[in-house]
Amino acid sequence: MANRMLQFTQVQRHMPPKREVTLRRSDFGEIYDEFEPQSAAEQASRCSQCGVPFCQVHCPVHNNIPDWLMLTAEGRLQEAYEVSQATNNFPEICGRICPQDRLCEGNCVIEQAGHGTVTIGSVEKYINDTAWERGWVKPVSPPQEREQSVGIIGAGPAGLAAAEQLRAKGYKVTIYDRYDRAGGLLIYGIPSFKLEKEVVERRTRLVADAGVTFKLNFEVGRDASLPELRLRHDAVLIATGVYKARDVMLPGAGLDNVLPAMDYLTASNRKGLGDEVPAFDDGRLDAAGKDVVVIGGGDTAMDCVRTAVRQGARSVKCLYRRNRANMPGSQREVANAEEEGVDFVWLAAPEAFDGRDGVAEVRALKMRLGVADATGRQAPEVVADSGFTLPAQMVVKALGFDPEDLPTLFNCPELETTRWGTVKVAYPSLMSNLDGVFAAGDIVRGASLVVWAIRDGRDAAESIDRYIQAGAQSGTHAASA
Ligand code: FAD
Repeated sequence: MANRMLQFTQVQRHMPPKREVTLRRSDFGEIYDEFEPQSAAEQASRCSQCGVPFCQVHCPVHNNIPDWLMLTAEGRLQEAYEVSQATNNFPEICGRICPQDRLCEGNCVIEQAGHGTVTIGSVEKYINDTAWERGWVKPVSPPQEREQSVGIIGAGPAGLAAAEQLRAKGYKVTIYDRYDRAGGLLIYGIPSFKLEKEVVERRTRLVADAGVTFKLNFEVGRDASLPELRLRHDAVLIATGVYKARDVMLPGAGLDNVLPAMDYLTASNRKGLGDEVPAFDDGRLDAAGKDVVVIGGGDTAMDCVRTAVRQGARSVKCLYRRNRANMPGSQREVANAEEEGVDFVWLAAPEAFDGRDGVAEVRALKMRLGVADATGRQAPEVVADSGFTLPAQMVVKALGFDPEDLPTLFNCPELETTRWGTVKVAYPSLMSNLDGVFAAGDIVRGASLVVWAIRDGRDAAESIDRYIQAGAQSGTHAASA
């Protein structure tokens, strides 16, 4: 077959078409259409097939990107799917929500050479959505069943990836989650205009179809302690994510309608899933008709502003204390938010929230970037006499998340944590200080990315397998004896 690759000098970079802004603003559907088969093949053919593929090196799960691009360019889609799913449990999810501009695409050699990166994320989504459509995606089926069992706390991407990998090795796997649905932040955090919920739900159904048991509405700490789970299982994985919202200690912060981001996003996601949400229906968590101010500059803040637009807010402003170049959120998401009508107030921080029954306005101060700190990042400083106000009948605080106090919550004071409250693990095993108790995802890294949670889940599954097999040979690990 003639070489179809290295077409980047002839073929321009194209993303799949984005839906019209006016349509996007009025519903929660994903904003990108799917590639047509011909466009996917053409875009894949732009890859320069580097000897050292920096896209793969900078992908946390080391996806074999050049190979599945080549297979797509050659129309060998089922093989492309096989290669893509070999390193990633949820490739079509990563295709949608990875910050590719900071990972694979940001390190694409032709991007560095000025031709515009290969649209890796969109091709990944195309390959794997096609695989679902054509029925190629099947539950894992272990070659042999094993006696031993693993308990996983948390059904987010880390827990689900570990569960699938362990089930593929034949272990009995039970996932405990305090929510009523599996998926963690994929289901209740990330809005459906980035990741439609059916895409998550078909994955969790697949994990259940592989024989993994889900115990939902089961909160470890309330319904069982960690020591109790250790008695039930040969190994336990903690994959609980980080949920303690960082707060602002400012006058008026306790006013009604000054809301934590996760309350706001969870209500919106639940409405989309058809749930009854009284705090939304009575208007408290609904932005319709309001002036909304979101505080923060990360992905959560971007999701909040774009949710408020879709709920029909009168105005939506994002207040961030640094400038555009220094914000942690993805630049692509900022551009999407701007297109949808969000107003960014860069270099500004709140000083107080004013109002009587609820918030009515935000008092804010202008900031400038001062000298760089030890990390090299310029610290924001207040500009003297720069106060200004913004009308707001809803304020959403999106300032990041810290871990909950797991040793107390889990009734297990001997579980060691770091000074940030994350679970302390040994590398590369990911085992905590407690024998047979492992941890993965945000609860180890702090708030991070879905693709890192998947990587950790996969690594933890490998370690748990080694641990259980070593115990089986030496006659220890009594749980399933
Ligand atoms: P989680 O997804 O948080 O899952 C943890 C699970 O543990 C939850 O289901 C929870 O209910 C359960 N749990 C917690 N405590 C208990 C307990 N005591 N008992 C039982 N169950 C418990 N990343 C990206 O890559 N791209 C994005 O676009 C992106 N957008 C984001 C948007 C928002 C609003 C947020 C908040 C995060 C976003 N992230 C994004 C980050 C990403 O979602 C997380 O890094 C990832 O979900 C972490 O996976 P995890 O499995 O460690 O934890």
